[in-house]
Amino acid sequence: MYIENLRIINFRNYDEAYLKFNKHINLLLGRNGQGKTNILEAIYMLSIGKSFRTNKDGEIVKFGKENSYIGGSYVKYSRNNTIEIGLRKNNKKGIKINKVSIDKIGHILGKFNVVVFSPEDLRLVKEGPSERRKFIDREISQIIPKYYNHLYNYNKILGQRNKVLKNVNVDAALLDVFDDSLSNEGAWIYIYRRRFVDKIKMLSKQIHDKLTDGVENLDIKYISQIDIQRDDSHESIKSRFYEKLKNNIQSDIMNKVTKIGPHRDDIQIIINDLDVKLYGSQGQQRTAAISLKLSQIELINEEVKEYPVVLLDDIFSELDEKRQKLLIDSLGEIQIFITSAEEGHKKIFEDKQYDIFRVENGQ
Ligand code: ATP
Ligand code: MG
Repeated sequence: MYIENLRIINFRNYDEAYLKFNKHINLLLGRNGQGKTNILEAIYMLSIGKSFRTNKDGEIVKFGKENSYIGGSYVKYSRNNTIEIGLRKNNKKGIKINKVSIDKIGHILGKFNVVVFSPEDLRLVKEGPSERRKFIDREISQIIPKYYNHLYNYNKILGQRNKVLKNVNVDAALLDVFDDSLSNEGAWIYIYRRRFVDKIKMLSKQIHDKLTDGVENLDIKYISQIDIQRDDSHESIKSRFYEKLKNNIQSDIMNKVTKIGPHRDDIQIIINDLDVKLYGSQGQQRTAAISLKLSQIELINEEVKEYPVVLLDDIFSELDEKRQKLLIDSLGEIQIFITSAEEGHKKIFEDKQYDIFRVENGQ
């Protein structure tokens, strides 16, 4: 799929801009702080309705303004579609798909698929489990919008359960109601995550092998307090999760928080039998993060039957020329957006079809 055009109004440092894009490579060039990443952010917002840089929509509205608008048209399965987002400071956003308003933000998921690479990706490897959970949750939601609903329900019930645990006298009957619904939603999360990790594991292994000329073996493991096998049914996972919640109840009451469940899980990233988070070099960590992201692109193609749009934010300055070329070549015919502060980077595309956008002070 590809995005044809983008219109933004009062978005970050832009008053108004209308851009028509190349189906293949779009290079955004300009000095620091001019508005290159802002364009990628706007494109990304059309895919999940949220920024990859902030959870606060208010930050996106241009300073001194009350509203912003982001609209774009993209082509998927040879059909034209439009997505529009209206943001108001301190208010709910409005989203229209093909001119029709949607009432739940979850309904935007799975329409326009985007994968973004940024220097922040290193956090995926280096930081705590919540970064990796965020990654898998976001990526699965993009492919399976139903997953987002399960996650939403799960978090809501979890919040209610934790609230009960904070009471001086814990109501056991009420807790049991929450345990039943929590294990029900949680079991779906386990099932989808298990499937996702299985697929990503195979894809990223092959990709990492290519990127490192076969020197490094990448492996990924899902880490959970509940052992989930590939063929486990929803019923069986649910009852095991439910049991575990029951067994752990005294500890939860003491800690006043739920300590068992997918909201405590992690994925472990391993290179040549060592945990990359603990023992990987900077370069290995970076390459592992890139392999994971590249495998996400392949997975979207397998599931959605079209490649996503790929955003590469400032990652060129981090890679040597050989890896830059390898990365671009591995993306083939996919529509890509690249930001860079260096003119020199354009020589990598000399043999390809590309457009250059010069970005200066929000213009
Ligand atoms: P770099 O090369 O350093 O990554 P960039 O071109 O990617 O730079 P952006 O992140 O796209 O830069 O834009 C940053 C600019 O946008 C900054 O000058 C910042 O002050 C401005 N900016 C961010 N949010 C807003 C806002 N809500 N209103 C107005 N300007 C904003
Ligand atoms: Mg930038």
